[in-house]
Amino acid sequence: MTPESTSTLFTGVQVFDGTGRDPFRAEVLVEGNRVTAVADNVPRDLRDGARVIDGGGGTLLPGLVDAHAHLGFGSTVEHLSRRRDEPDEEKALLVAHAGRVLLDHGITSAYSGGNRLPRTETAARKAFAEGWMPGPRLKAASWEGSAGMVEPGVYDFPGVDGRASDPGAVSRFVTDMAQLGVDIVKLSLSGESAVVQGTSRVVQFTDEEVAAAAHTATRHGLWLTAHAHAAESVKMAVRHGVRAVYHCTFADEEALDLVGAARDRLFVAPTPGIIHANLYDTGSEPEPGMEVRATHDAVRRVVPELVARGVRVVPGGDYGFAWNPVGRNPRDLELFVDWFGFTPAEALRAATGYGGQVMGMGDELGLVREGFLADLLLVDGDPLDDIRVLQDRDRLAVIMKDGRAHKVAG
Ligand SMILES: [Zn+2]
Repeated sequence: MTPESTSTLFTGVQVFDGTGRDPFRAEVLVEGNRVTAVADNVPRDLRDGARVIDGGGGTLLPGLVDAHAHLGFGSTVEHLSRRRDEPDEEKALLVAHAGRVLLDHGITSAYSGGNRLPRTETAARKAFAEGWMPGPRLKAASWEGSAGMVEPGVYDFPGVDGRASDPGAVSRFVTDMAQLGVDIVKLSLSGESAVVQGTSRVVQFTDEEVAAAAHTATRHGLWLTAHAHAAESVKMAVRHGVRAVYHCTFADEEALDLVGAARDRLFVAPTPGIIHANLYDTGSEPEPGMEVRATHDAVRRVVPELVARGVRVVPGGDYGFAWNPVGRNPRDLELFVDWFGFTPAEALRAATGYGGQVMGMGDELGLVREGFLADLLLVDGDPLDDIRVLQDRDRLAVIMKDGRAHKVAG
């Protein structure tokens, strides 16, 4: 018996390579975990022995990257949970389950937006990377540090007024998270009106606390992510070198210009998915204090302003809640088109080429290019014609991560 072939040749495909250029017809050869040839006709000596997958005119593109993923919130399209208090062992299983669901829906890389139990993500990161459990490449995150460094999963967003600034506590939090092995420390620099009414515009950390976080994160080689709705929280994030700024909802002109000036060293994830879910998918009209409509209106104004300033705006919609479950992630691309005025090609570039950069792997991830890691989707259809085809998992004919086929339909 011959062992399973370690090379795969895709033929009969239109290649969207992740740079944003128009799709082109080519053959793509994967050997081991890398793309080793992208050519009109891959030469016979290279293709010999390869498993051939004829795409039948479908589209081959890089695997999708979600820049704001929550593997630990408990809900996927297959399993809904409104609880947040499961035993730790169950939380670990939920993270593993979410990883497989992400991969099933074409998300081959995930940049975590926070986890109540960070060790579950560092463990999943290892299992997914070693390939013995299905899941995306994962950048693991801390729990979401909030004002006064209250315990994980407690979100009361008291703001900074009336409490003593405590940079030492913030610094210790970052060090603790480093010792757990996370890649990312997340701070809720603003509150969140959808959780505690009226807090999105309230800054939660003092400047010296964020400075301490940044200093300690740098010392440990960690990235900082900010949850930042309020204009001042966005400015604070940029001033202190935060790498991923989530939401940016109420950014004013000064904040927009600061983000624009820092565009080479940060990414913005405006998370349309959760806003859409809060507006339309809960089955009930949100309370006015949740500011859901105001958030929607503001983010639709802000994102085109950021794009005009050359900022890399990336998909990732806070999927993981019961009303916004993991597995719906590709809907963000449709919202990038419908809400923010992206072309489908621009939305796809944000999810692929920019996605590789978000993962800190822009020189080897996010493009269909010789030498790049073989994270690939073969789509039955043309997402440049209709971006929504990516939301139908049955149209994802092949899902490949790290050169391994997670799925080959038919
Ligand atoms: Zn989030």
